[in-house]
Amino acid sequence: MICCGHNFSFGRSCLDENVAFLTTADSAVKLLPEATKPITGWKGLEYRTAFPMLKPPGANFYPPDMDKMEFQLWKDSLTEDKKQEATGFFNVFKRHSEFILDASLSENATVSSSHGHDLFMVPYSSEYKTFLAKAADLLHKAGDLTSSPSLKRLLHRKADAFLSNDYYDSDLAWMELDSKLDVTIGPYETYEDAIFGYKATFEAFIGVRDDKATAQVKLFGDHLQVLEQNLPLDNVYKSDHVIAAPIRVIQLVYNAGDVKGPQTVAFNLPNDERIVKDRGTAMVMLKNVSEAKFKLILQPIADVCIMKEQREFVDFDSFFTHTICHECCHGIGPHTITLPNGQTSTVRLELQELHSSLEEAKADIVGLWALKFLIGKVSHLINIVVCCYN
Ligand SMILES: [Zn+2]
Repeated sequence: MICCGHNFSFGRSCLDENVAFLTTADSAVKLLPEATKPITGWKGLEYRTAFPMLKPPGANFYPPDMDKMEFQLWKDSLTEDKKQEATGFFNVFKRHSEFILDASLSENATVSSSHGHDLFMVPYSSEYKTFLAKAADLLHKAGDLTSSPSLKRLLHRKADAFLSNDYYDSDLAWMELDSKLDVTIGPYETYEDAIFGYKATFEAFIGVRDDKATAQVKLFGDHLQVLEQNLPLDNVYKSDHVIAAPIRVIQLVYNAGDVKGPQTVAFNLPNDERIVKDRGTAMVMLKNVSEAKFKLILQPIADVCIMKEQREFVDFDSFFTHTICHECCHGIGPHTITLPNGQTSTVRLELQELHSSLEEAKADIVGLWALKFLIGKVSHLINIVVCCYN
């Protein structure tokens, strides 16, 4: 999950305009100048107007003319294993009728065993092989250079995952990262898949860890189990093994890929429920981006909307604390669920394209609930929380 700071989807994306902060749109404008209209400077969502053609709701993950019903019928024809793969994060779908299978691709493509279905899936490791092979090579080289054991492990495992299409170990290495240089790279968020919310898009965030701020926020991660136990919902839906989410605060120096118009201030990963269930999640907060958003967006709005006597309570620490709470609350509440027919599923799979919005709304409201709860229960958090709850 990424969080753009409570729907402030406008404003500047970077502290030094146009230099290090490349977005997907930046890259596309640079790569395809003839297909786009010129937009100078950083204009946030205005970048969308640079593209004359509307993007299909399924991005390029599915054939543009495929609908949910066709996918469902095809999926029903698959074995249980293949069904899981079809709703997983790391493959795209094509049509037999529109695709001439060359020899190399047909080896890797998973073709439906049922006749009469036109769809088949191709893993990212085949579909994006040229790009991923180069990226894996560079990641291995970077891994050889670093002296940090956890960063070394992360870079080598990500490189392996790019080629094998199995990201599980690389995500564990990401969660265990304990390095001054903080790296997040790979296919993660599913916002671009507006049909199902199944398919992940590649992104990269590179930052330098802020050790002081990281120590401060550890307090919140340590209370996740208490928060889960006290959630205002039926006990049957609560987990008794919420793992304290490690929170890393970084100063962002570079990002690329699926980082989009609304510049994220924090993200909570991985989204793969197998890892969430086994190991929990980890959070990265982008402090310099939060500060810039606070100063350039929130403060000017507050100066207009908040009455004068209360304006002194609008401060960066409160804003940042609420973001921490919002992020923590992505990690609690039901993720894996049992359907009325006894089958195990996940909230994301069942809510499909509604999941992203509802998950963000959940994190916002549960974040406020958590602040109020902590004021009453955890004395050493009172000062931080009271300041935030003002
Ligand atoms: Zn969020």
